[in-house]
Amino acid sequence: MTCTAEKPNVIILATGGTIAGSAADDTATTGYQAGALGVGVLINAVPEIKNYASVRGEQIASLDSKDMSDDVWLKLSKKVNELLSQSDVDGIVITHGTDTLEETAYFLNLTVQSKKPVVITGAMRPATAISADGPMNLLNAVRLAASPLAFDRGVLVCLNDQIDSARHVTKTHTTSLDTFKSPLGPLGFMNDGKPTFYNRVDRRHAGETEFEIGALTDLPYVKIIYGHAGDDALFVDAAIQAGVRGLVYAGTGNGSIHQEAEAALARAARAGIIVVRSTRTGSGTVIPAEQSYSEAGFLEGDSLPPQKCRILLQLALTRTTDRRQIQQMFYEY
Ligand code: ASP
Repeated sequence: MTCTAEKPNVIILATGGTIAGSAADDTATTGYQAGALGVGVLINAVPEIKNYASVRGEQIASLDSKDMSDDVWLKLSKKVNELLSQSDVDGIVITHGTDTLEETAYFLNLTVQSKKPVVITGAMRPATAISADGPMNLLNAVRLAASPLAFDRGVLVCLNDQIDSARHVTKTHTTSLDTFKSPLGPLGFMNDGKPTFYNRVDRRHAGETEFEIGALTDLPYVKIIYGHAGDDALFVDAAIQAGVRGLVYAGTGNGSIHQEAEAALARAARAGIIVVRSTRTGSGTVIPAEQSYSEAGFLEGDSLPPQKCRILLQLALTRTTDRRQIQQMFYEY
């Protein structure tokens, strides 16, 4: 097939990452420069894309995604909303570094006002490596974004032939190609390039959320504090001093908090800071536990990992400071 006239229109928005990474040596899988190659180079490397969609690319950023910021998120989400409001755009693919890919995916899942497909992909090996995974991941992502099957499923993450929900997925391995996993299960797979779905996420997602970022130029300051044996009040007190509006505590087990950090977090809550208990375990739902937690007004982060609790809390704080309403959001999104 060479004619592209009748094919779905998919826009590829590039943000950098290893998928656009370049190394001096084709055996190098570390020590390369992430985000070195432009979107045109990525698209031209996979001419087969034209068999499935009419694509054009735009460069949004050229970052190693460890350096992702609220500014880029706002710019990206506004661009996705603008493009998807156009009747001749059928879907979006975003290329991204894998380090914070799940965070950008969840931010978009909460702020995109369209049910058209939005698919994020990346790569674990730089574009210059032998057996680079980026080209196949990009082709699969375009095929998924061009598919009617991807409509109204929230923002999707597609790497290594697997389709995951932005809400559930997390990076689980430092270097393996098979790094993205969803503790609550994947949504489906790319079988020989064809999307096959098995599951749906029963939480509000792109196209049905209340978070409007169109007029925002920044996001509320929310930080994560990582719980551990021997924890104390140091970081909580520093965060209060710094003027944070929200704190996520990555607790042990069921969102448990070291007693010294707990006393400081209670002080934070009394000062009007919203405190959310999450867990460092990597899976499971944080459920109500100690009476002292509810008396202090701490909220539960449900089954979101700390880094996604932070994003939902940032967006919640753009709407309200009412604890009950914010808790409800953690049950709905
Ligand atoms: N550090 C890289 C990034 O997140 C890793 C990757 O893309 O795989 O941009």
